Order: sequence, then C-alpha cells, then structure tokens
Amino acid sequence: MGVFEVAQAEGHEEVLFGSDPESGLRTIIAIHSTALGPALGGTRFYPYASEDEALTDVLRLAKGMTYKSAAAGLDLGGGKAVIIGDPRTDKTERMLRAYARVIDSLGGRYVTAEDVGTTTDDMITISRETKHVSGLPAEYGGSGDPSPATATGVLAAIRATARHLWGDDDLSGRRIAIQGVGKVGSSLAEQLVKSGASVIVTDTYKPAVDHAVSAYGAKAVGIDEIYDVECDLFAPCALGASFNESTIPRLRCEAIAGSANNQLATTADADRLIERGITYVPDFIVNAGGVINIQEELHGSYSWERAARALEGIGDAVTRVLTRAQAEGATPVIAARHIAEERIESVGGLRLRRRPGEPTSPTN
Ligand code: NAD
Repeated sequence: MGVFEVAQAEGHEEVLFGSDPESGLRTIIAIHSTALGPALGGTRFYPYASEDEALTDVLRLAKGMTYKSAAAGLDLGGGKAVIIGDPRTDKTERMLRAYARVIDSLGGRYVTAEDVGTTTDDMITISRETKHVSGLPAEYGGSGDPSPATATGVLAAIRATARHLWGDDDLSGRRIAIQGVGKVGSSLAEQLVKSGASVIVTDTYKPAVDHAVSAYGAKAVGIDEIYDVECDLFAPCALGASFNESTIPRLRCEAIAGSANNQLATTADADRLIERGITYVPDFIVNAGGVINIQEELHGSYSWERAARALEGIGDAVTRVLTRAQAEGATPVIAARHIAEERIESVGGLRLRRRPGEPTSPTN
C-alpha cells in the first residue's frame, strides 16, 4: 500500500516528512486528528530498520494518542513524531533544532513531548526553535517528568476498578502485582503501600527491585513468576504485549490496570481475558496521566495541584468504560473506543463551526 492509502485508511489528517541533509535528520510527523485540539504526541528517536517500519509506527502511535486524549476528556488531538536513527550516536544539537523547525512549520497543529529516545534536555533544545513543545522542566515553566502524574492516574484507575468490582475503593489489604518498577511502577508501589495495599514486584533491573523491597516492603518475584502470582489486581508497568495466549491462562488476578502501552499482544486477547473472568481496564484510559499533566502545562502556568485534580478524572473515565462495557456486553477496549469516538464526533463536530475570525487551525 502507498503512503496515502495507509494514512487515509486510518483517517490521518496529515503526514509530514522532514529532512536536513547536514545533520542527517529524517523525521516523520503524523497528525491523526486535530478535531479536539492540537495534535499532541511525543518524539520517538529510534533506529528503525526501514522507512516503512518508521511510518507504520508513527501512524499507529498518532492514532492511539487521538483516542487517549479524547477518552480523557482533553482538548487535544492525536499526533506523534519519529526521528529515524540511533539516539546515542546520531543525535546532535543541529539535528534537534532542524527537527524543531519542522514542528514549527506546522504552526501549532502538532505539539511534541519526550518519548523513547528523547529527553527533557532535548525538549529544551527544541524549545529554542519552536514554542510547540511540552514536557519542559519546571524551571522552564514546564511540567517536568510525567511519571509521578502517570502513577497518580494509575492509582485513580485502580481505585475506580476496585469500586466497580468490589463495591469499595479502599485498597487496604489488597494485593497488587506490579510488573516493572521503573519511574511509573516505583511511584505506583509507593502510593499503593501508602493506601494500605501490599505489593508484589518484578523487574529485569535488580536495583529497581531492591529499592521497592527496601523502601516499600514489596515482595519480589522472578520475571516470569509474576504471571502466576495470586493477587487482586495486576499492574503492568514495564513494556507492551504482556498478555497473550500463553500468559493469560496463568493469571490469578481479578483485574488488570497498569501504565504500559499496548498491553495486549493481539485484539483477541481482550476476549481471552473476558473468558477468564478478568476485568481488563484499557491501557490508554489508565495511562492518560502523562497527557493530562501536559494539558495543564499548555494552559500557561503549570500547577501540580490543578494537575492532581484533573488526574482524578481518570477514575471517572474508568467507571464510565467498565459500566458501559457491562451494559453493552462489549469488551472494555471496545467500550472505551466508542466513548472516545463519540466525543470526537460530538465536541469535534461543534468545533468545525467556526466563529467569524477564528483561525482554522488550533494554535493554543
Ligand atoms: P521505565 O523505563 O522507567 O520503567 C520500566 C521498567 O520496566 C524498568 O525498570 C525496566 O527494567 C522494567 N522492565 C523491562 N522489561 C521488563 C520485563 N520483561 N519484566 C519486568 N520488568 C521489565 O519506564 P516508565 O516511564 O516507568 O514507563 C513504564 C511503562 O508505562 C512503559 O510502557 C511506558 O511506555 C508507559 N507509560 C509511561 C508514562 C510515563 O509518564 N512515564 C506515560 C504513559 C505510559
């Protein structure tokens, strides 16, 4: 399939290819939707094996951002950018600034943030050429590392799941298994223990496990053993595709809610979880804390208090999704997609009716 066929099949508004021969920049920015606001999504700097692979990834990720922001009730659309290359050896100031000028040429239709292979420092470099960048450190007026916000959002999701399943969001005495105690998982472990839950953790990086054990009294288990742990809820906070046809039969939890992106290996795994009687709360609902935090930054002056209040909204979103899934006999993934699509139709449709003099593209 050609680029236009692929982009049109998934409903993308715009795909921009940018290059700078001097620095070797090769970037693709995908704007999936600006129906609800500027397309927000991070910049992934990754050594893709081919341009096709990079294009497939950026289109998929941009569309995912549209759904995440729409379901979270944000005034943001979905976009994503990739830079093809090895961030450790290829990244230079010139390349990042050339990339920033490509972002700037979009006039605010796309707003970037950090992602795999890019850092807060890179966002500072990018901000020297464009104002359409977020996730800047606090001393630059930004919201800084999004991980604590993401973890706070995951906790709100876990509480709402508990209320839905067990009639009470009190987590004392609950057993939660956390796969991956990095930036999000470790903050989540801390907040869960403060809420009276006990945590069972695993991580491929031993110092991360040791920290969770000594700081939060976590019980450590092996990398593969985590799937067999008897617990109330499993929180995947490592990489994607944890749940597949071989791990799902082993699970001994009642629910899944965690921060990792793309937790299900295939769409059939949502049905496999239903068959096992396990409530799966869709990843893009649970891990929206990062974008919610960034929306607070885009208001102009970032405040953690305001962000924390907005993060509680993730609990309401989870309740809406689980209630609707139950009522319609659909998987929570399908219910969440419908909620996002309805909001894009409804609020996005309203925004198409512009007032006289209103710009045709969102500029925040
Ligand atoms: P991180 O790199 O700080 O932590 C991930 C941890 O998982 C690391 O400690 C790593 O050693 C561990 N890990 C990797 N493979 C593992 C495996 N097979 N089993 C157990 N542990 C393993 O990343 P993070 O920022 O904490 O993000 C965690 C997940 O949440 C990622 O999937 C990320 O895409 C997603 N996410 C993060 C944010 C955020 O704000 N940081 C926002 C949305 C989504």
